[in-house]
Formats: sequence, C-alpha cells, structure tokens
Amino acid sequence: MRKYIQNATIVTMDAALGIVQGSILIENGIIQEVFLDPQSMEVSCAEIIDGSSMIVIPGMTNAHYHSYSNLLKGTTSNLPLELWSLFSVAYGYSLDDQDMELAVLLGVIEMIRSGITCCIDHFPHHQRIEAALRAYEQSGMRVGFAPMMHDVPDDCFLSVQLPQNIKKQFHSANQRTIEEIKDIYMSLVKQWHRKNGRISILLGPNAPQRCSSEMLKMCKKLSEDEGLYVHTHLLETKIQKLAGDHQFSKGIIGWLEEHGLVSKKLSAAHSIWLEDSEIAYLVENGVTFVHNPASNMILGSGKAPLNKFLLLDGNVALGTDASNCGISHNMFEIMRLAVMIHRLEETNYEKWPQPEHVFKMATIGGAKALGDDGRRGKIKKGFIADLVLINKNSTVFSGIHDLVSQLVFYENGSDINYVMIDGNWILKDGKITTFCEEEVIKKAQERFEDISERFQHALRLAVEAKPFFEKVIYSCYQP
Ligand SMILES: [Zn+2]
Repeated sequence: MRKYIQNATIVTMDAALGIVQGSILIENGIIQEVFLDPQSMEVSCAEIIDGSSMIVIPGMTNAHYHSYSNLLKGTTSNLPLELWSLFSVAYGYSLDDQDMELAVLLGVIEMIRSGITCCIDHFPHHQRIEAALRAYEQSGMRVGFAPMMHDVPDDCFLSVQLPQNIKKQFHSANQRTIEEIKDIYMSLVKQWHRKNGRISILLGPNAPQRCSSEMLKMCKKLSEDEGLYVHTHLLETKIQKLAGDHQFSKGIIGWLEEHGLVSKKLSAAHSIWLEDSEIAYLVENGVTFVHNPASNMILGSGKAPLNKFLLLDGNVALGTDASNCGISHNMFEIMRLAVMIHRLEETNYEKWPQPEHVFKMATIGGAKALGDDGRRGKIKKGFIADLVLINKNSTVFSGIHDLVSQLVFYENGSDINYVMIDGNWILKDGKITTFCEEEVIKKAQERFEDISERFQHALRLAVEAKPFFEKVIYSCYQP
C-alpha cells in the first residue's frame, strides 16, 4: 500500500538534502521519493498523512542492547561489571520462554516509543533464542540478533581463585561445545537470517578474551562463509585491559587481529580501555565503535574515548546496553549523555561533540554497524522506510532555532506519535499496532512473583562466588 506523508519537516540526514519541508512517498517498504514542493504531486494513495505539524526523522538504531534485562530493572544497578555479570547471568538463565518473549516486547515498547526502529540484541541464552525471535517477528521491529558465544569463563581470564566446588558448578553451567554453537548459528542462518527483511543474524562473541582461539576461528569462518557481521563487547573495564595485556602478547586487540576479526563487519561495544594506536587501527579498518554512555557510568567502567574516534572520523553508533546497567532504552537520553559528558574532558570548546554528531551516530552510524549503510539511516529515495514522526506542537518545538539541537537536548520521545518500519506503521496515533502493549505489561506484572522466586534460587552461586571476584577487583583498582 502506498503511503504519502505530506508537507512535513524532514531531517533527511543526507548532506545534499539537509533539513527540508517536503513530502515522502513510500511504497513496498521503500522511500520512493522525497518531494520538496508539497504541491508538486497529485498522489493516488491509499493513505495520506498530513505532516504539517510533524517532524520526520530516520528510525534510529540501538546498536548494543540485551533484551533479557528488561525483566531485571532494579536488580543490579550498583555493582561494577565483573560482579554485575555474576548476578545478571544468574538472573537471565532463570527466565523461561514466556518471560523472554515478554522481555523482548517490553524492550520493543520502550524503543519504539523513543524512535528506535532497529536494535542489535546481544543475546546470551541459547535455549531461549526461538522465543525471542518469534517475539521480534510478531513485533515488526528490525533486529540484528547476535547470540553470544564464549568458552573461557571470567574466573579463568581474571585469575580468580575460586574454591573447587564453586569452580566446578561455574564451569558446567550452560556450557556448549564449539561444534554445538556452530550448529546453532547454521540453523539460525537457515531459518531466520534476512527473514522478512527485518531480522538478521550476527555473530556475537561475548568478548574476545572470553573466547578460545578455536572459538574465534569458528567465528571468523562463519563470518566469511555466510557473510555475517560480528558484534562483541570490547575492553570494557580496566581489569580486562590489565589481564588482556598480561595474557595475550599484543593485548585483547591483538587477539582479535590474530583471528582476522578486525574489519568493517565488526561492531565493538564500550571500547573504553584502548590505547591511541589501537583506536587508530580500529578506525583504519572500519570497525564501528558502539558507545554506551549510560552503562559505562552506572557500572563505573570508565570514560570511552569518543572524542578520539570522532577526530579520526571513525564510525560511531550508540547503545543503551542492559536495563539493569543502563537507563531506559531511550535514544534521546543516550544522545544527550553522549554529547554532554565528553565536553568535560575537552577544554577547547571548539572540539566539543555537537548534537549533529550524536544524531548521526543514532541514525547513520547505527545502520552502518549492521552493514545497512546506503540503505537505512537517511530519508532519501531508495532507502528503507524506517521513519519516526514527531509532533511539532509541543514545548520542545514552540520555536525552532536549531532543529537537531532541540531534538537532542530537549526531546524525550513523548512527542512521537507515529513510527514506521519497512513501510508499515508499528506505532500509529500513539498506539502500538502489532501487539497489545497493555497486555504485555499486565502479563509481566502477573509473572513477577514467580520470576522473583526463581531469581532467588538462581543467585546462590553468584553470592558464593562474589567475594572471590571482589578480591581480584580490589587488588586491580588499588593504587
Ligand atoms: Zn552489553
């Protein structure tokens, strides 16, 4: 069905077009034309949207995200990463298929309502993959789904001296062989990759140091054979940097390089503890740096070198990370944090990140992380019709001096009434069209007691292991 958004303010993100007053014709999920003169065309459409009180922006990409965490809000927001992981993993593995489906849809609600039309879901729970993907399919959301792979537990990498009985339980929990993981990916590629044009499968090494050489070789081969993009956590904490430099001759980046994984197909979340030469090397090879300012602050992980990536013109995307180590999955909040915190480290105001930088990260940068550059992230003829319509009749736009600046510094998503993915309305007149939002929230509330009870059982091992991890963390961070 043809759709025509008439006479709107369009933030095209295309250098030649810029911000224009015009109309957008959509057919078969694609932007067929952007007309600058709204009167210039008589369109016979089944649906015409009056855009005169609307701003249209490209759908944004949440380029690092963990859907399971949507049922974990309020659980672990006061721990550093290595301790946070112990608990978050335990919580996550106690979720069943129905929980996971709800977790995915809760995340979709938050993201759609803040103008996010695509996410990279870095997904640890192999036995829940089908449930999660079915929920994404139903929701109409675009997703780069990256099941995690790892076979080196953190206690081994960080030399945590766990008592034998804890170690044994730790290492036997949810372990799969490399062959088994490869089979999971192959079956996903067959059944889900490029499904509906909205679901794509990414390879998801948990982090380079959490993968053996054999695991990374398998990852590289699958990436080459199937053309899959790769998503990973990278150098998130100082302790990872120290242990990585100790364990690998050229550090964690060298470990990735050795396995041929440093390329434009790689997106690396966090990337905080990098040396300047490593930043240059990643940028030169087209790696996307996924900045997660909220998570980096909540976990106390450190300040990512955003300004250095910008200076080298590297591709940067933005992520909200997990609900229990981030804020809500609201890209406006993430853009705001990203543009503000890095001003603190730069005394020359002319070098400060600008609203245009972070808006580009949320749109073009995120699309590129999935190999969608040239197809998504702009409002331009031939691009995929992932669009967000924002009501202009609000306090934020009571006068427009600088549209992008006002979007980044003042908008919070509450003025979004329409969201389109692949040419279909996912949010229309402020209502999600693909599933019942109220029912999802109600179901999650109904299951809360049962989920909480399962959580309590699951935490025993994390509680027992915590003091041993703490010891290593304290020794690393003491001056
Ligand atoms: Zn993460």
